[in-house]
Amino acid sequence: MEQLIAHPADLLVIGGGINGAGIARDAAMRGLRTILVEQNDLGSGTSSRSSRLIHGGLRYLEQGGLGLVLEANRERRTLLRIAPHLVWPLPFVFPIHRGDRISRWRLAAGMLLYDTLALFRNVRTHRMLGKRAMLEAEPMLRDRGLLGGARYYDAQCDDARLVIATARSAIHHGALVANYMAGLHQRRGAGRVVGAQLEDRLTGEHGAVRASVVVNATGPWADRVRRLEDSGATPLMQPTKGAHIMVDRSRLDNRQAIAFTSPIDGRVMFVLPWGELSYIGTTDTDTVESPDDLTVTADDIIYLLRSVNSRFPSARLGVEDVRASWAGLRPLVVDRGHRSASSRPREHIIVQGSGGMLTVVGGKLTTYRSMAAEAVDQAMRELRHRDGRRRHAEARTDEEPLPGGEAADLSQFRERGLELGIPAPSVDHLLRHYGTEAAGIFNLGGADRGLLRRLLPPHPAIEAEVVHAVRRELAQTVEDVLVRRFHLFYEHSDHGVLAARRVAELMGEELGWDPPRVAEEAERYLAFVQGTTRP
Ligand SMILES: Cc1cc2nc3c(=O)[nH]c(=O)nc-3n(C[C@H](O)[C@H](O)[C@H](O)COP(=O)(O)OP(=O)(O)OC[C@H]3O[C@@H](n4cnc5c(N)ncnc54)[C@H](O)[C@@H]3O)c2cc1C
Repeated sequence: MEQLIAHPADLLVIGGGINGAGIARDAAMRGLRTILVEQNDLGSGTSSRSSRLIHGGLRYLEQGGLGLVLEANRERRTLLRIAPHLVWPLPFVFPIHRGDRISRWRLAAGMLLYDTLALFRNVRTHRMLGKRAMLEAEPMLRDRGLLGGARYYDAQCDDARLVIATARSAIHHGALVANYMAGLHQRRGAGRVVGAQLEDRLTGEHGAVRASVVVNATGPWADRVRRLEDSGATPLMQPTKGAHIMVDRSRLDNRQAIAFTSPIDGRVMFVLPWGELSYIGTTDTDTVESPDDLTVTADDIIYLLRSVNSRFPSARLGVEDVRASWAGLRPLVVDRGHRSASSRPREHIIVQGSGGMLTVVGGKLTTYRSMAAEAVDQAMRELRHRDGRRRHAEARTDEEPLPGGEAADLSQFRERGLELGIPAPSVDHLLRHYGTEAAGIFNLGGADRGLLRRLLPPHPAIEAEVVHAVRRELAQTVEDVLVRRFHLFYEHSDHGVLAARRVAELMGEELGWDPPRVAEEAERYLAFVQGTTRP
């Protein structure tokens, strides 16, 4: 808190999802004194509840969103380049069955347009498949009525880690970033917003931060924060809920990602591989649920299971097969035309409130970088208007790698890990998740060999990663580590509960927790798991 309130900032960004982190990175790279506050953990909102796709926008073709497709394609190329450990190419098939909303010829036309708009620089160009080739690609697909389909390529990401890496890059460029720090009432000066009252959610401490420009990047919470500026502000958002479920990949035996249309409502859905698991999503329903306590309902699960079972009838997936689930609110911009949820394009808007606060809503993970640049451009104009000063206007956010993305070829790092005696699966896991930063984790293990122990065998994660999460990735709670940095919550059959105590001990050594606090933090994680996994 002391650091945050010591000096006035040029820019205060409220909300540490992908948009807030992207704005903070862009602003800090342009030399603005930037503060980013997040009320919970970085990425804990919508940005860690996505379909984890960095997509070229194939779906937007149906809505005529050619501009969105062009932008999404460009951004996908950029992210594959600056963060190869966080964003990776993903092959897809799109099977078509008789009676589907999308016919084979329409898919073929769409695919051709998709490749053309990408100037044939899609991850790879598409290929149409006949029935037999489609069944060879995905043997468990329903044979009856199958007409063939397409193979195409897109990209998948680690959404939560993308946010954390982006925020860390902002820190590297001088931004102050604080998680568990809520932006409460706004400070006013001559009718304008000139900062905010902050509350440290872990210590209860309060303080007032001054800032020339305040940006509200709180996603589904944005209207709530706007009402702090203007109690009569009209809502900007009309959120829809999207839920996913995770099942064992062996149940569908899917070799790649699969896009298909739900027989229930004709919406495009996905089965997406995630190591030995596959997740299925998503629903898209209008909702008035609060973003604070969003739940995956029985209806959500049944919709997803019925949709996927229609394509994989022999899998006979049931509720008991659901290993994990998550839901997020799409912060969709209010649609005056009242189109259905799925057909509203995911555009963003930046609006200025009566007190001068900028609110940024909408967008996607995929296009966060360009949206952030637009928001910072607008903040720069506002700053100039306020103090008349010209500032450096360049931010090469598309050139500088995110932490860990400095090299795509990691073979020399692999050697180092193996030399230390780390088992190959753990070395590969570290390289995959941390890119070049795996070297730092190897060094932690080299200095204290106890840290090379696996956290939850046979899972390849090692104890040194917990130390890295606290020292470098701003982890403050066991949940931060097990949910958003390690994903054990989603991936492990017991949601990582068995590792909670050890994680708390390792965190305690870093953060100075005494034994009762260590026990309390481990317990808190168990309570979190119980609260989120019991329907
Ligand atoms: C189901 C689903 C699937 C999706 N799939 C994809 C996909 O595959 N690919 C893609 O590109 N996009 C996808 N999206 C869209 C994408 O996830 C969102 O557009 C994006 O994450 C929004 O980011 P954000 O930063 O605006 O919001 P959020 O990530 O929600 O961040 C807002 C943050 O503000 C914080 N906050 C709120 N109030 C305060 C306060 N007073 N003080 C401090 N902090 C505060 C919250 O805690 C939160 O962390 C999906 C969205 C959903 C819901």
